[in-house]
Amino acid sequence: MSDNFKQIKCPACQKEMVKVFIPSQGVNVDVCIDGCGGVYFDTREFKYFDEPDENIDELIKIKESKVFTPVDESLPRTCPVCGARMVKNFASIRKEVQVDECYSCGGKFLDHSELKKIRAQYDSEEERSADIISELYATVGVEIKKMEAENAELRAKRSWLKKLFDKMIYG
Ligand SMILES: [Zn+2]
Ligand SMILES: [Zn+2]
Repeated sequence: MSDNFKQIKCPACQKEMVKVFIPSQGVNVDVCIDGCGGVYFDTREFKYFDEPDENIDELIKIKESKVFTPVDESLPRTCPVCGARMVKNFASIRKEVQVDECYSCGGKFLDHSELKKIRAQYDSEEERSADIISELYATVGVEIKKMEAENAELRAKRSWLKKLFDKMIYG
């Protein structure tokens, strides 16, 4: 469970944020309904919302027909959950949209409309798969290196045991 249950203040405009339950993903996100329209995601929530086929109707619904206060998106922000200074970071492989990220608790804050921008970045399914595959390769590559290192260690142990065994049997 990564949801936070305390009332938090918007890191961009300091208004109280409203918890919105998203039934399709089963998580609560904090939305700045009465202020700038920003959205705060807890540690693992964000991955449920960043791809175009994921359902954010509830989020869109609650935000449409609202007029939000404009905020300066370039200002540094403080994490509303843990109080750490947030870091501006690119939220996707394409590096077009910056979000505020908390390295301390893993929270992310998106200004109004940034979520839609991130989700619209992939023009085609192929393009998205290509990105996912290259990411996968990078991850798998690290795993293979780890396995190779472990194997080398095992081989070394085995040959040491064999030598010991040979010595015991054959003297
Ligand atoms: Zn706000
Ligand atoms: Zn934090």
